[in-house]
Amino acid sequence: TGHLQSRDITIIGAGIAGLTVALALAQRGAQVTVLERAGAFREVGAGLQISPNAGRVLEALGLGPALDAVSVRSDGVVLHDRAGRQVARMPLAAHRPGAAFRMIHRARLVEVLERAARAAGVTVTLDREVAELPELPLLIGADGLHSRVRRALNGPETPFFTGQTAWRALIPDDPGTPDPYARLFMGPGRHLVSYPLGRGLRNIVAVVERPDWTAEGWSHQDDPAHLRAAFAGFGGKVPGWLARVEQTGIWGLFRHRVAPCWQDGRRVILGDAAHPTLPFMAQGAVMAIEDAWTLAACLDAIPDQAGALARYQALRVPRVTRVIEAANGNARNYHLTGPARLLGHAGLRGLSRLAPGLLMGRFDWIYDHDPLAVRP
Ligand code: FAD
Repeated sequence: TGHLQSRDITIIGAGIAGLTVALALAQRGAQVTVLERAGAFREVGAGLQISPNAGRVLEALGLGPALDAVSVRSDGVVLHDRAGRQVARMPLAAHRPGAAFRMIHRARLVEVLERAARAAGVTVTLDREVAELPELPLLIGADGLHSRVRRALNGPETPFFTGQTAWRALIPDDPGTPDPYARLFMGPGRHLVSYPLGRGLRNIVAVVERPDWTAEGWSHQDDPAHLRAAFAGFGGKVPGWLARVEQTGIWGLFRHRVAPCWQDGRRVILGDAAHPTLPFMAQGAVMAIEDAWTLAACLDAIPDQAGALARYQALRVPRVTRVIEAANGNARNYHLTGPARLLGHAGLRGLSRLAPGLLMGRFDWIYDHDPLAVRP
């Protein structure tokens, strides 16, 4: 290790991928500049769930206490049917003591990362849209969904619409101590996920199958009445939550290939730039954080830059491909209709009662993964 001492590295994009890799590189001695087109870090986005596989990275970067101050610890996930009845409880945290599942507003995570990156000597330049990719010894593309660096490495690509759109909203949380579970309500052709973010806020993501196309992006607004109408048949806490929605964003869910080429020896991509992910396993930001650690570890450990970047891609492609396939599969499971739904729910109920370890064990390979233990 030690091959990053005083190396100049430029990163495009100050999202979660860009800031995490900037911090990891700076802590290992590199001189890092991040270029971000936004003029300010705004209160954009909504909630993120950060499972232990990414939590281990953030803790190794020294961010555990800062994150605990602005997030809620999750005990796990509870599945409900449309009427609001509990189908299965998955106490994921108790299943792996010492590992933190956190629920956090995206803007709070970005803030914690940005502050730590600047403190580690990273230069973050806002209001700097990169139009032409500069010729540099090492350029990192953390430029998200519509990444220019991805396009430079792979050519243009057309993602395909999954036939699903998602609303997201922030509402005032229920009074009292935040409920420590993420709750998933499943109905035919639709599902709704909600969890607390602390500071009196609650996050809602509601997905419906519908063939009409919605543009891909994080900034499209919709009338909350459409969200309420789509989930009018739901019970439990759902009607009360939806009554509190005053503003909602909507986005079309598109499927992208994992980019075939992540690097060419001088330029490299990570996060959404390399592999945009459907939200059904809540692993989009988490995979970006895993990527960031592995990229910094490879550059630090392997003296030849082209070899380091190739090793990074080889380590990450199988992992993100498997996670993305799991997320694609869940899109189907949550929306089962008719007999398949009854069988599915009954099976889950039985499993969660008789063999909860077996039910939760299906996710061990995601949450027990330790990026720190991967040899570069
Ligand atoms: P991103 O988070 O997309 O970050 C990419 C960054 O690069 C952005 O800051 C962008 O402005 C910048 N950038 C892009 N092109 C250029 C350029 N040419 N020059 C300079 N800068 C450039 N996920 C959820 O699960 N829930 C949410 O509520 C949610 N809200 C989001 C809101 C916004 C505004 C954005 C940008 C993303 C949101 N996401 C959300 C996505 C989530 O953050 C990502 O899936 C995940 O964190 C991976 O992040 P990333 O850093 O790879 O990409």
